[in-house]
Amino acid sequence: MSARLVLLGPPGAGKGTQASRLAERLGVPAISTGDIFRANITGGTELGRKVQEYTAVGALVPDEVTNAMVRDRLAQPDAAEGFLLDGYPRNVAQVAELDAILAELGRDLDVAVEITADAEVVVERMLGRAEIEGRVDDTEPVIRHRLEVYALQTAPIADVYAERGLLVRVDGLGAVDEVTERLLSALEPHVA
Ligand code: AMP
Repeated sequence: MSARLVLLGPPGAGKGTQASRLAERLGVPAISTGDIFRANITGGTELGRKVQEYTAVGALVPDEVTNAMVRDRLAQPDAAEGFLLDGYPRNVAQVAELDAILAELGRDLDVAVEITADAEVVVERMLGRAEIEGRVDDTEPVIRHRLEVYALQTAPIADVYAERGLLVRVDGLGAVDEVTERLLSALEPHVA
């Protein structure tokens, strides 16, 4: 199946979980910029050292670092037939960069899916997740900052995709399976 998707939604909306499930069902790789950064931090790579100061406080990693990483990743053979981007683009400049990367590769985005969720619900979810996963950026002040960054920098990109007729909004509240099915039905008309 060919499907080129971006998944948007506030931190804690269940994006990561849904990204893996959707990618499996659609037969495309899930590419999570946050996961790639965390793996590099854990592995002590140069990229990891470069991004740690930003991820730790919930600030966006500078665009030149993130964009270069995504450009490399999308050029990998497993992304040739499709991909699901989770956590990228994260601001309007990254939307433009993704447009440029795809234009160079001669491909188009099929759909942008926004998983919606209430801010207080996502804070509670993330505080619960902190106890299980131990993510260093899941403390309450950092969570609140990440939500602010989302509202200011990331939420506006939904409008950009809406203007292009590419945006689908799906309610992220409910059981994980239920949300996956809701997402798949909403995506169906957009992926071949
Ligand atoms: P996430 O797992 O998507 O919540 O991302 C965790 C952290 O990685 C974010 O708080 C940012 O510091 C960084 N990050 C992930 N994706 C991006 C991106 N597209 N642009 C800039 N920073 C990012």
